[in-house]
Formats: sequence, structure tokens, C-alpha cells
Amino acid sequence: MPAKRTPVRELLFGNLWEYDPAPETADPNIQSRYQLFINGSFRAPLTKKYFDSLSPRNAAKLSEIPIAGKSDVDLAYQAAEKAFSSWGKLPGKERGKYLYRIARLLQDRAREFAVAETLDGGKPIKEARDFDVPMAAAHFFYHAGWADKLEYVAPGRQVSPLGVIGQIIPWNFPLLMMAWKIAPALAMGNTVVIKPAETTSITALKFAQILLDAELPPGVVNIITGAGETGSLIVNHPTAAKIAFTGSTVVGKSIQRALAGSGKRLTLELGGKAANIIFEDAPIDQAVEGIINGIFFNQGHICCAGSRLLVQESIAKQVCQKLKQRLATLRTGDPLDKNTDIGAINSSEQLKRIEHLVQAGIDEGATIYQPACQLPKNGYYFPPTLFTDVSQSQRIAKEEIFGPVLSILTFRTPEEAIEKANNTPYGLSAGVWTDKGSRILKMSTELKAGVVWANTYNKFDPASPFGGYKESGFGREGGMQGLLDYATID
Ligand code: NAP
Ligand code: MG
Repeated sequence: MPAKRTPVRELLFGNLWEYDPAPETADPNIQSRYQLFINGSFRAPLTKKYFDSLSPRNAAKLSEIPIAGKSDVDLAYQAAEKAFSSWGKLPGKERGKYLYRIARLLQDRAREFAVAETLDGGKPIKEARDFDVPMAAAHFFYHAGWADKLEYVAPGRQVSPLGVIGQIIPWNFPLLMMAWKIAPALAMGNTVVIKPAETTSITALKFAQILLDAELPPGVVNIITGAGETGSLIVNHPTAAKIAFTGSTVVGKSIQRALAGSGKRLTLELGGKAANIIFEDAPIDQAVEGIINGIFFNQGHICCAGSRLLVQESIAKQVCQKLKQRLATLRTGDPLDKNTDIGAINSSEQLKRIEHLVQAGIDEGATIYQPACQLPKNGYYFPPTLFTDVSQSQRIAKEEIFGPVLSILTFRTPEEAIEKANNTPYGLSAGVWTDKGSRILKMSTELKAGVVWANTYNKFDPASPFGGYKESGFGREGGMQGLLDYATID
């Protein structure tokens, strides 16, 4: 009997393979203190108040962010109203030039913005670098192209801007959500007062410098920061012709209540609990990659995350086994490391919310699986997590966890899959994995979700409208439909 040979790899490196650290080293160029951006200049808040912005990577202070109060919000709206009188009348071709310029300047500083976004929000640098920043630039390019072709948005009819738009965005894709909001509003001829989320204001304020460098006329975009209270001041300001909000369903509902009867237009992009549905005839290995991307992209901080896996019973065991193997290869840790797959959780509050819901899953009888992984000591981290033995009534199957946590349920027939997938108050997105084209058509027709991906997941394009059904909100962002939400049509 031949002696057992030790593989050369193990002789050389031992049996523990570890990657060398690969930190991104570009300077994010973050100021120690920022100011509000109103009427084309940076100004201290009249409240004289600031709050600390921390990096979830290590809980270290990054910068001080101003808190805008009522008088600051008034100034921002006054500036936007004044700017609207000329920006709204500018020929579309001229507006387009500014948008092209903004897109190119963002591309020029892509690396710096990617590092800032990762430090401020916790997402892996490879995602900020390869997704957030290029997609933000793409949204400006796309809408720049529309600016002189607005007569085709609603052929045969007259489209005109609405006026001043109040916009509020969340913390999961700070720069990208800002681009989604600002680019179509400006292309259509509106002006803007926008507030980023409290935990991720830095790239918004860095973006203000790009607007200055692009020589955008003062007041066309005003960027004000602060917490929910500042958001509420934006929503309730009489000058706003429309409010465009992306965030949680709870806050979205309160905004809808506040605006009822005011005559203001409103679009809401809210939460989700998407079903990612795997049929037995699906290409299993591709589907496993799609499931991983669907839930672990951006630590699961994504409204359209495929957080409910519905897998056909005949292949459930095989899929779960492959998922566990794949989970073991995911690298969770320092978001600035180029090899990191799962970075830091955005804030200590969000980490607590995830921990709370995961505990509820355990308490309600689901079976948890987490691979062995060493998390950094400082900062906010959570390992990739799977739950099996999940029933539809459990909180982890119903509520948006907004973290790297996947709940796995099974089904037997396509009808059962549709019924389970639609059994949610949300309706933002869904995924279908199957070899059958006819099944894709049936599922995408019957699933009550704004976006249905087939044999892929989390694919975005500025030309493709995005938005929800039911408690996931209304209105669309991107594409021609997104522009219509920033226009009056006569
Ligand atoms: P959030 O708590 O609703 O906050 C969203 C934004 O609203 C933040 O800027 C927040 O400010 C502000 N805000 C809070 N209270 C407000 C109030 N009473 N009036 C006006 N503004 C107020 O949501 P989040 O936790 O940041 O984001 C996560 C949620 O966003 C998830 O539910 C996710 O599904 C959803 N989301 C949806 C989409 C989509 O396209 N459908 C995209 C991304 C995220 P502060 O941060 O300063 O409190
Ligand atoms: Mg932060």
C-alpha cells in the first residue's frame, strides 16, 4: 500500500490558506468637518450643531456633519425656487451638458469616491469601486442623453418640470441613490433639495464639490444633512412640488400621511422581502451564485435582496449543501480589503436590528447555519447566515432583515411557489431560476413584484425602471418611466 502523500501546497504553506491583506490605499480626501451646500456654496448650519460620522469598519470618527434646522431648510428651498426660474427654462441641450460634466467628473474621481463610500458606509471596496460609483456616473450619462429629447418621453404631449423637488435617501447606496434622485430631476428641468441618511452623508457632501467644479448654477442642487427631523422639514416645506423618498416602509407611510391633501406629488421606494425561486430544472451552480449574490451583495443592505429563498423540494437538500460550501468561501471582514466579499454592517443600530431578528428566528424554531469566520474586533460585523426549517409565519420569513441573512423555504409546484412568493405585504423584486422560457413568462406575469429577474439577480441599468408594488411603494426610478415621475404632462 503506497504511503499517503502530503500535497505540495500543504508542505509549502501548511494546511491553512490565507490571502495576504490587499488594502485599497487611495486617499478618500475626507474633511474633518463639512458644511451644508446651499445656493452653490458651503455654509455653516444656522443651528451651529454638528454630529460625528463614524466608520462602521472600525467605529472610528471620520468627520463632523452639520445638522440643518428649519431656517437652513428654508434657505435651501429659497435657493432652489430662485434657481428653478432659470434652470427650468434652459434648453434641454444646455442642461444635458452640465449632467455630462458631472458624470465625467465623477468618473475622474471614481477611486477617491469609492474609498470614501466604503469607509463611510462599510461596503466592500470592490462593490463601491465596481458598482456604486460607475453606476452613479452611468445615471448622469443616461439622463444627460435624455435632457434634449424630452419630447419623446410622452410623444405628442407637452412635458414640463414640476418645480422644486424635496428628496430623501437611505444609507445603503448613498452616492448611487443620490444619482438616481438628482439626475432625472435635473434632466427634466427641476431643482432639488436633498438629504442623505445620517450615517452616510460624506459622499453626498463630496459630491457637492463636483457640482461646484461642474459650474452647475447655484441653487439647482442643495444638499442638506441631519437626522429624520431634518427629513421631516424637507417633506413638510410648502415650496416642495414633489417629495421623492427612498427608505423604510414605516417612514414612507408617515410621509404619505403627512402629504395627504397637500397637492404635492409623491414617489416612494420602500422596503422589500423578495422571493428568489429555484426550480428543479435550473442550472444549479449558477443558481447558487445567484442566491449568494442576491442576499450577500452589500451585506444584504439592499431593498431588493433575495432574502427569501424558495427552492423546489426535490433539490432543496442539494442546494442547501452547495450553499453551505459556498458560504465557507466568503470572506467577511475589513471592507477596505480588495478581497473582502462581505464588509461591515452600516451602523451599530442596524447590527442590533439584525441580531434581534436572527435571535427571533432561533427562538421561533428555525435552524441556523453560519460558517466559521473570524470577524474584526472593532467595528460592526455579522457573519453570512442561513436559516433552514423556516415556516412562512416566522418573523425571519416575513420581515425585512436588511442584513446578510437568508431564510430558506421549499415548495412543490409552480402554483405553490407563486402563492408563497406573493404572500407578503411587499412587492419590490423577485428572482426565477429555471430552464423553461414559458415558466419564466408565467412566473413574471403572476409574481406581484416591480422587478422580476430570470436566471440572474441584482442586475441594474439606468435605462431599466425600478420600483415597487404594495408596501414597497409607488413610482419608478430609471428609464423613461422614471422621468415621467418628475414631469407634468399636458
Ligand atoms: P429610513 O429610516 O426610512 O431612512 C431613510 C431616510 O429618511 C434617511 O435619510 C432618514 O434620515 C430619513 N428619515 C427618517 N425619518 C424621517 C422622517 N420622519 N421624515 C423624513 N425623513 C426621514 O430607512 P433606512 O434605514 O435609511 O434605509 C433602509 C430602508 O430603505 C429599507 O427598508 C430599504 O428596503 C429601503 N430602501 C428602498 C429602496 C428602493 O428603491 N425601494 C432602496 C434602498 C433602500 P436619517 O438616516 O438621518 O434618520
Ligand atoms: Mg458613516
